[in-house]
Parts: sequence; C-alpha cells; structure tokens
Amino acid sequence: MLNLIPNLVKRYLFYRHSQNWSQERLEAYRDEMLGRLIRHAARHVPYYRNLFKEIGFDPDQFKGRMDMHKIPLLDKETVRTRREELIADNADKFGIVWESTSGSTGTPLHIIVDRAARSNKLVALIRSYQWAGYALGKKTFSMQSYYLKDDDFEYKKLFRVLRFDSNRFRKDSAIKVIEQINKFRPRFFMGFPFDLLMLSRFAAEAGLSISRPDSMVTYGETLSEHKRKSLEGAYGCRVFDYYSQHECTSMIAECEHHSLHLIDDFACHEVVDEGGKDASEEGFGELIGTGLYNYAMPLIRYRTRDDIVLDRENETCQCGRSFTVVKEIIGKQCDYIETPDGRLLGAVMSHAIDNAKGVVVSQCIQDALNHVCINLVIDNTYNEESEKALERDLRKRLGDEMEIDFCIVPELEKRPGGKTPFILSKIGHQYV
Ligand SMILES: [Zn+2]
Repeated sequence: MLNLIPNLVKRYLFYRHSQNWSQERLEAYRDEMLGRLIRHAARHVPYYRNLFKEIGFDPDQFKGRMDMHKIPLLDKETVRTRREELIADNADKFGIVWESTSGSTGTPLHIIVDRAARSNKLVALIRSYQWAGYALGKKTFSMQSYYLKDDDFEYKKLFRVLRFDSNRFRKDSAIKVIEQINKFRPRFFMGFPFDLLMLSRFAAEAGLSISRPDSMVTYGETLSEHKRKSLEGAYGCRVFDYYSQHECTSMIAECEHHSLHLIDDFACHEVVDEGGKDASEEGFGELIGTGLYNYAMPLIRYRTRDDIVLDRENETCQCGRSFTVVKEIIGKQCDYIETPDGRLLGAVMSHAIDNAKGVVVSQCIQDALNHVCINLVIDNTYNEESEKALERDLRKRLGDEMEIDFCIVPELEKRPGGKTPFILSKIGHQYV
C-alpha cells in the first residue's frame, strides 16, 4: 500500500513521456516487455509452461511481436475452465486482486489483475481522459453501476465527482440528478452512451436543459455514429470514445483530433481473421490483446471478441502520437431492457450474470414489459445453486415485478445480421 502513490506518480510520468515516443521506440519497448512477460509465463505459469513445451516454443528465442503468431490465441472459455493454471506460482508477490467480469458477451469470468496492471490501467486511462479534456479536480459527472446504498447519487468531494448510480436509473431519479447537475455544473461527463442519451431524453421530456459540459467520454458499449451525433446534439459538446476491459489486455482511446488510437504502450494489439490468422494487411478483424503488466495472471493473445477496423488511409494522426489509428470499433451492440417500474438497463445488465457457476455464455431476451427469458449455455458444473445465485443477482437489477425464466439452450439467439447481442429486445428497445 505504501508504495502505491509514488508508484502511480512514476507510471503517470512514464505515460506522459511514452505518448511522444517514435514508432521505433514504441515497438522496441513493446517487444522488450512482451519478451519479459513471456519468459515469466514460461517459468511461473503452469498453463504456459505446458503449452510452450507442447508446441515446441522456446521463450528464449522470442524476439517480439513478429513471433507472437507462434503462440495460440487464448479465449474466454479457456480462461474460465483452466483459470487456476493461468495463475503464476509466484502470484502473491505481485499483489492479488480478483476481478469479476462478464463484458458484453455474458460469459462469467473471474480473473486476477495484479497491482502493477491496475496502476498502469488507471494511469493510461487518466491520460486518455486528458486527451478528451479531463483534468484531475475538474468538476465531473459520472454515471455508472455504483451500487449506492442510500441514495441515487453521491458527491465525492476530493475528486469533485458527482456520481449517479445507473442501476437506479428511472425517470424520477433522472430528474433529481439533472437538478443536481445543474446546481453543480460539471465540466466533464462520463458514462455509458445509452445512459447519457436517456438522461438527455428525460430532460427534454420534462422541459429541462442540462448544464453544458466542455466534453464527454463514453465507454462500455459501442458508440455508433448515430449515438455520437445524438449525444453531441443533446449536450452541446464533443464526445470521445474509450474502450478497455477488466482483463487489461487492450485499450483504445480517442485523441484531441478525434482519432481512435490503440494504446500501444499499455498492451500489444493484433488483428486476426476468423481463422485466427494475422489480418493487419486487410485491416479488419478481431482485436487480440496482450496486456504488458499483469504478471500474476498473464493473458497472452487474448481474444476480445470485438472486431475493429484499422484506418489504412490515415495511418498517422495530427496529434503526432505513434499509436496505431483505428477507424471503427465493432462490438458490444446491446439492446436495452425496460423494467415494469420504469427503469432502463443497458449493457450494465451483464454484470448480473457474473457470479453464476457453470454458465458458458448467456443472453437476456425481453419479450414483454414484465417478462425476460435468460438463455444459458451451460457446462456440467451448473447446478441449482447457480440458478439461485443468478436469480438473486438479476432480481437486484430487474426488480420484483419482472418475471424471469431460465432457458438452457444449445446456442444463443442471433440477430438477422448474424450478431449475438447480450440483450435482445423484442419490445422495441433496439440498439441504434
Ligand atoms: Zn491522434
């Protein structure tokens, strides 16, 4: 704990500098960090110790990203079922904190993100937010799943942040928070695009205006062009997109010049086609990430299940940074749920599935205002206890009036276009 603050400051200064590095320096740093991580994994992580032996991979010959293709991709399913083997035998040394996540795909996952990975993520995130106009101490409004006990919102004096709990999002609580925002006048907004958009709609319906911020960062779900335009119109400010995961294996942020960048000093990013082959030439495919700092549980070549398109026409950005430019992030396109008591729940719902044992993938389908069906693909560790835990967590979000049915299915329902969203609305609350 004692080392935490100086360590954060050190990393902060590092990231201030590294964003100005040349392409060559950035690549040399990434390759050096990858080499260290892979040699550590070969020595201390049972999963990689065995895998490398099996495929005849020699970590001492590893030169950098050009050799990454020799290591097989790692998917969520493997992390879920072989978690213990992915934990380093000296993990304690790095400070263990368990994270649980399900992301947009509804696959429960418990992973360790160690102290260093955590600090690096926080500092890289702050740097990204600074590109978007944030500064420490700047009056901020943040809308997230906070699980507040006593109220819909709270004020964090030290950081000057007004927080609104998105689990409690309904029309009357929205009106209350709009009044608070107008009193507090935050200059920076952050939250899920869906939540911020609904907030502005409630304001408009009630004939209220929302105090205008300088800028806004959104994350947690895909920011479609339509959502971006609607948000910019409603709040009268520029909107910046931000993408990352609890697993700390990749990060994308939008700079002052509104280019999306892969944060290449935080993780090693690759793009692969459906067969898992390098697709950087084509410039389109699934984003594969390797976080450079999580030694307690290294995830190497982790499949994010989100697709990205690289920007081939504008490979350099006016901001001068060498980070790879991304044209579009395609992923996390959820519909949203409306509860009988009038609350609206977006991608945030996926967290309710986090603790269910034996669930491989899941999906929430709303076919009536008071009825949802939870589709579950399960393995043989699923039992009665899992269903009880699931119901408990879903009740917390959905309230008592919603009827919940669990359906064990061989596969999840797809949209006509072929996507499999975590939330599928059949009552007209489609993703736009
Ligand atoms: Zn840029």
